[in-house]
Amino acid sequence: MNTRTGNWLAVLLVAAIVTAPALAAEVRYEAHFPDLPGYVTLKCDLHMHTVFSDGLVWPTVRVAEMWRQGFDAMAITDHIEYQPHKKEVPTQHNRPYELAKGAAEAHNLLLIRGTEITRDTPPGHFNALFLGDVAPLDTADFVEAVRQANVQGAFVFWNHQGWKGPEKGRWQDVHTTLFENKWFQGMEICNDDDYYPEAHRLCMEKNFTMLCNSDIHEPDLRKKSSSEDHRNMNLVFAKDRTPEAIKEALFARRTVVWFKDQLIGRKEYLEPLFQRCVEVVPPRVWPGKTQRNAWIELRNVCQADIQLERPGEWRPEKLVLPARSTTLVRVPITPGAKRVELKYTAKNFLIAPDTPLEVTLVIAKP
Ligand SMILES: [Zn+2]
Ligand SMILES: [Zn+2]
Repeated sequence: MNTRTGNWLAVLLVAAIVTAPALAAEVRYEAHFPDLPGYVTLKCDLHMHTVFSDGLVWPTVRVAEMWRQGFDAMAITDHIEYQPHKKEVPTQHNRPYELAKGAAEAHNLLLIRGTEITRDTPPGHFNALFLGDVAPLDTADFVEAVRQANVQGAFVFWNHQGWKGPEKGRWQDVHTTLFENKWFQGMEICNDDDYYPEAHRLCMEKNFTMLCNSDIHEPDLRKKSSSEDHRNMNLVFAKDRTPEAIKEALFARRTVVWFKDQLIGRKEYLEPLFQRCVEVVPPRVWPGKTQRNAWIELRNVCQADIQLERPGEWRPEKLVLPARSTTLVRVPITPGAKRVELKYTAKNFLIAPDTPLEVTLVIAKP
């Protein structure tokens, strides 16, 4: 090759590099939930499986699912004791985390090392998160496994209480032992398709963190999180977007869960969440002496439809504010009034079993 041809090749190569199109291989659809004062709202699924226990996907596939559906953080929690694929995939408790780590970093997802301690009911299944090493939890003694998790400073929660076994999720001596040692801090009030009111009640009585996870085993083919169809989601109110901040928030019980069409959590978080989800836009025209109605825009900025109901003489008595949409409602105004307060029940904001949140929408004369 002469110098001249070489120069031309170099120019062509540079041109090829510069003009190579970016590959649009994946799309992420954000799942919108507003931040609370002082906290960022992080969307987390903290319980899922891969081929390293009884799941049917490789760990990196879980990362892609989470990213696509707008999540911020995830924990792969394969069973320590139940590994039906172990002839094909030998027991290596830390491999799911290690295999997913690079993909999680590339997708800007927070990956938490976790596992599922798996016993018949009672005591049932428990997840341990923020572990440094899963291996020491592989021991025949259940209480010792939970203690080992706590030695590592793990956050431990009781999974799918009420799921199976003759005792279902009845609280037993072993739970008292863990509770008195402060060795578990949370409970799943929802898992997969099920809501457990008893777990919800126990969370309130014993001050546990409320959680709601997918516990998914199959591939998740969803493209996005919508009000009609989404993966179970924990909204964790963290001081910043780091695994350490998620851990602090979980220990401090700062969660609301999104399960089917419900948002469930403590009133102290559901109330400010509602206030930030629903924006009342002041009316452009305030009724005069002859007019009686004002038209009010209600903006729902979150990913979940919001169901409102109110008793009383004024319509509308039932109102659905579709996710990420604006709804125009007609509100009767008493002549001369400068302010109207509409009291509603937010039917799908649950502050306790069977107890929806009461809210007030304030409409003020512009
Ligand atoms: Zn389980
Ligand atoms: Zn599980």
